[in-house]
Amino acid sequence: RQAELRKLLHEPSVSKDGHRVELAANIGSVEDLQKVLANGAEGVGLFRTEFLYMGRGALPTEEEQFQVYKHVLERMEGKPVVIRTLDIGGDKELPYMKLPAESNPFLGLRAVRLCLDRPDLFRTQLRALLRASVHGQLKIMFPMIAVASELRAAKQLLEEEKAKLTAEGRAVAEGIEVGIMIEVPAAALAADTLAKEADFFSIGTNDLIQYTMAADRMNENVAYLYQPCHPAILRLIRMVIAAAKREGKWVGMCGEMAGDRTAIPILLGLGLHEFSMSASSILPARALIKALSREEWAAHAEAIVNMDSQETIQAFVHQHTRSDN
Ligand code: PEP
Ligand code: MG
Repeated sequence: RQAELRKLLHEPSVSKDGHRVELAANIGSVEDLQKVLANGAEGVGLFRTEFLYMGRGALPTEEEQFQVYKHVLERMEGKPVVIRTLDIGGDKELPYMKLPAESNPFLGLRAVRLCLDRPDLFRTQLRALLRASVHGQLKIMFPMIAVASELRAAKQLLEEEKAKLTAEGRAVAEGIEVGIMIEVPAAALAADTLAKEADFFSIGTNDLIQYTMAADRMNENVAYLYQPCHPAILRLIRMVIAAAKREGKWVGMCGEMAGDRTAIPILLGLGLHEFSMSASSILPARALIKALSREEWAAHAEAIVNMDSQETIQAFVHQHTRSDN
């Protein structure tokens, strides 16, 4: 089995009927790159930058961040690298920042909300990203966007820093794609309007499921509600993909669901373009996709979103993939 999978290392990710998708990796640090390259990733679909800020005593400087982003872009040799801006708050704390105590941190000043509240900190990261942009194929992604005004405000700061760098005579890549995570139900429901202003979407199912089900993703007592293949979640995903398609934008997924063997056939059917997962899941996912017909699963997906429960849907997928794999 391992030897069979190794053969797919340099293969594109194409379904049985010739539909191409991209299989990318999630990373949290530079150390993860070794595994990414060894497992045939076609890009980095999510670089969680919070780890640069955690486990230390002060904010990372622009230069420090620049060196890390540049390194990742260079190691990926021109393959797309989606770097997500700081997603702190919620369960992730920074002791040296003295964030306000909140009674509902997951509903509080988190991610892009915090960055817009602390533009000094945000501008430093944006400058480091812009400077690194000439060293590979950088795509910038903002987390936890709920409404379009947040995206506009973030893009405004990005434009301002770009103008400053250019005035300083520093090189910045042209046409950097700027996208958003879809992980707040409001963003999924209004994806048609957001698709006009974002260059791409990446669906963050870890949070999208948490917020849609109103179930803390860390709380074992409500873990039964964490249902990636519930019709409520699948309908949101379908809406997001359809909205992006209408605007000619691509859609990825970087939550755990993207590497889930039961979810992959459905996501392929719904037309997801990019699947970003832990590196070790990439070759098995490529093998699975090669055995699936995109056209068949497009038809199945339409039926699946109208089924009554995750159990029914999982049983359907298992029954229809048994012969494929
Ligand atoms: C997500 O919410 O699905 C996601 C990828 O982001 P994180 O797990 O870092 O919140
Ligand atoms: Mg998230």
